[in-house]
Amino acid sequence: MDISVVIPLIDEAESLPELEAWIRSVMEENNFTYEIIFVDDGSSDNSWCIIQQLKSQNPFVKGIKFQRNYGKSAALNEGFKIAQGVVVITMDADLQDSPNEIPELRRMVLEDGYDIVSGWKKKRYDSTLSKNIPSKLFNAATRKVSGIKLHDFNCGLKAYKNKVVKSIEVYGEMHRYIPLLAKWSGFKKFGEKVVEHRARKYGVTKFGWNRFINGFLDLASIVFVGKFKKNPMHFFGLWGTLSFLFGFIVFIYLTVSKFFFDQTGLTQRPLFFFAIFAMIIGTQLFLAGFLGELISRNGAERNHYLIEDRIN
Ligand code: UDP
Ligand code: MG
Repeated sequence: MDISVVIPLIDEAESLPELEAWIRSVMEENNFTYEIIFVDDGSSDNSWCIIQQLKSQNPFVKGIKFQRNYGKSAALNEGFKIAQGVVVITMDADLQDSPNEIPELRRMVLEDGYDIVSGWKKKRYDSTLSKNIPSKLFNAATRKVSGIKLHDFNCGLKAYKNKVVKSIEVYGEMHRYIPLLAKWSGFKKFGEKVVEHRARKYGVTKFGWNRFINGFLDLASIVFVGKFKKNPMHFFGLWGTLSFLFGFIVFIYLTVSKFFFDQTGLTQRPLFFFAIFAMIIGTQLFLAGFLGELISRNGAERNHYLIEDRIN
């Protein structure tokens, strides 16, 4: 199969028939074999009904329906699990992404050899200031910490080699950081394509103002987890030990100076509290690292490695 299109959606009933027809016409024009995987993320309108209807008209439609709303990341994750196409394309359901981009995205993956090609909504049609400025900030921060030079991490329209989507696990709100997840799994070639962005035709946006706060918190945790998950001790242990040693040395210095040089009480000197504080913090950090280490040693994925090739 050439292409899997994975579409996470919640309450997008009006858009679905138009979207399916459009994707179908693009696929037929180009003679691609394909599947469209609709993942209904707990809609309360009749989206699922529509998906069932679409299925009865087009056998290449597939659907997954969640019992409740788990979020876009969860929807993508489940779609990725069953995607069979050589190239996997993700797309929002609200007709803001144009299916006309599919052939070129596919070509970039297959011929230019990109692992991921990310859409870039250079000209946006929902550009209220409240969305635009935080989005610029968000992308700049993500570029910085991830070291991946993309302009628009959050773009729903992306194309992947099949292997990429099978190697990553998208959870929480991590759909914004899929390129980073892929990078950690060892994929290196990231491409970008300027894509047409259209105004939302039906319905309303499903993410509120808090998307940016959540986005940044997730970025912090993803970077931290990514760096130290396997060896929490390397971070906490190091800083804990340094802090403790520092406090201890100051403490020794204070004790020595009390007994041999002046007679002022230890507790009279501000440095004393500083030393105690450094030792306590040091012990705490060390313990945190130690506990982290114990937890990660018991984690189910402690020996989960991605193997690229084998010869037997
Ligand atoms: N979506 C989803 N689960 C959610 C929120 C959103 O599957 O909890 C889908 C939504 O139906 C749409 C896509 O994710 O297909 C992007 O959402 P939206 O268009 O509201 O985001 P925006 O374009 O405003 O960034
Ligand atoms: Mg949208």
